[in-house]
Amino acid sequence: MQGQFIGIDLGGTNIRIGLVDERDEVGDLRYLSSKEYSSWDDLLIKLTSVIKEMGAGRLKAVGIAVAGGVLTSKGTMSYSPHIRWMDGQPIEESLARAINLPVWMDNDANAITYGEWAYGAGKGFSSIICLTLGSGVGGGIILNGNLYRGEDGLGGEIGHMCVQPNGRPCRCGKRGCLEAYSSGTAISTIYGEKNREVEIDNPLSPIQIYERAIAGEWLALDVFNILGEYLGIAIASLVNVFSVHHYVITGGVSRAWELFFDRLQEALEANLFNPHRGRVKVFRGQLGDKAGVIGVARIARDHVSCH
Ligand SMILES: [Zn+2]
Repeated sequence: MQGQFIGIDLGGTNIRIGLVDERDEVGDLRYLSSKEYSSWDDLLIKLTSVIKEMGAGRLKAVGIAVAGGVLTSKGTMSYSPHIRWMDGQPIEESLARAINLPVWMDNDANAITYGEWAYGAGKGFSSIICLTLGSGVGGGIILNGNLYRGEDGLGGEIGHMCVQPNGRPCRCGKRGCLEAYSSGTAISTIYGEKNREVEIDNPLSPIQIYERAIAGEWLALDVFNILGEYLGIAIASLVNVFSVHHYVITGGVSRAWELFFDRLQEALEANLFNPHRGRVKVFRGQLGDKAGVIGVARIARDHVSCH
């Protein structure tokens, strides 16, 4: 499919808009701040003008990736924990009408997974499962070359898999979710509980705790051990269910790889069904913060190609 595509990665803090050419390289990449907008209508006006400026009449389609529960079957948001005014908005339809081009929407973790599978750490494998460790934990599942979205588009929420019955409280209102142990937010809260010198209202950032761990502080190191252990348990369950052997871990927290990977590997092997032992490989993502833009532009391109 010749022509250019735009990928929009709409997160709770940043909005990245990238122009992707036919070689799947990101040319023009622009940033907006999500906090500057107070309604979808406001943001829609801005997105429309940026897209028109960037595409200059050569665009074929636009993909938009949003954090939260995306009903891909309807092109609407069902639940957006970071940007509440997105809830229920007919995003696909209103953006398509404003720019007069086909638009596809997907969950941000699905877009990242698709990007890493098509061009990054998952390239060449027929099936991968990707976990994105940011302020929350996202997940995406590719089975035999297709994104698995579940019955209505809400599939792949690996962050809300229960890894500890009656465990730590999660932002979703449940207890014991993977996100409550292996996200950036979890790093700050768990460390804050362990280190009484840190005020509850003023937690350290995951980067500050990472620096303390690198300096050898055992309380900080323990937080990353917990993170790795629960990731290993979660991945083992995914292997046991899907029999997928290749995993990609991406997102800001994955920069602390050397602090959690050994424990992850131990917990993974300890919890695997016997026939899978020694066969599972876990890779670091390769596309960094462009993965979502590249992935959702590719999702848009694939839709145009097959329609
Ligand atoms: Zn949860």
